[in-house]
Amino acid sequence: MVKHDIQQFEVKTEPHYRVVGSEVALYEAAYARRVPVMLKGPTGCGKSRFVEYMAWKLGRPLITVACNEDMTASDLVGRFLLDRDGTRWQDGPLATAARIGAICYLDEVVEARQDTTVVIHPLTDHRRMLPLDKKGEVIEAHPDFQLVISYNPGYQSLMKDLKQSTKQRFAALDFDYPEAKLEAEILAHETGVATETANKLVQVAHRTRNLKGHGLDEGISTRLLVYAGHMIAQGVAPEAACQMTLVTPLTDDPDMRQTLQAAVETFF
Ligand code: ADP
Repeated sequence: MVKHDIQQFEVKTEPHYRVVGSEVALYEAAYARRVPVMLKGPTGCGKSRFVEYMAWKLGRPLITVACNEDMTASDLVGRFLLDRDGTRWQDGPLATAARIGAICYLDEVVEARQDTTVVIHPLTDHRRMLPLDKKGEVIEAHPDFQLVISYNPGYQSLMKDLKQSTKQRFAALDFDYPEAKLEAEILAHETGVATETANKLVQVAHRTRNLKGHGLDEGISTRLLVYAGHMIAQGVAPEAACQMTLVTPLTDDPDMRQTLQAAVETFF
């Protein structure tokens, strides 16, 4: 019998999430029927915050896995470990979530290799089970278990994309940066900057978002704006704060940096 400390996965306090559209109601309906959900959208636009909020609202534990290309199926499912008393099985995060009835959130799933991604398949159809091949056990998913993945269509390429056989196991919700007024409200709430400053930050971001595909892979995300707000609220001069959080992380190209700096100077 594998024991888990469920408490550590509980979302204890309500995460601050500003509802953008009908995403909460739609997610609730999907969860009610345990339909797996894919959250699509650029990095830093609120996908993870949304899942945390939904896990809190539904009162389910949340297990988040940041996917990467070195991740193996064993990292998700589990493995035998050697310790003083011999070998002992340790559940991976996916197995743990399936046993305790958690929401399992695989962040940036496209980063994982395809041979890793396929282990989620039997959990996402009518079987709702997870074979632990090495252990010779099949876990039947807890009735409350649900799988959620995030996916950034911007990074899509021939080399790195989900297979149709994986994509077509999920219902999907589109996410994007919140519209200007809401995004400014989020910044003010998260960081304590004045509304006027928050509005300016959002306007800087909008300039850069138009440059996506024209020298920038992605525009400035809500996450970076939150960082900028924190630096300014901490007393750093806005220009220096923007340089550190909105310009330097985004690009190393000198011309593009100048363009971004010019956008900052327009508003600050
Ligand atoms: P993603 O998972 O899409 O990469 P996150 O969920 O981590 O992005 O969002 C980045 C930050 O943006 C969050 O930490 C939060 O401060 C802010 N944020 C974005 N959207 C919202 C929202 N709708 N309500 C509250 N905060 C938000």
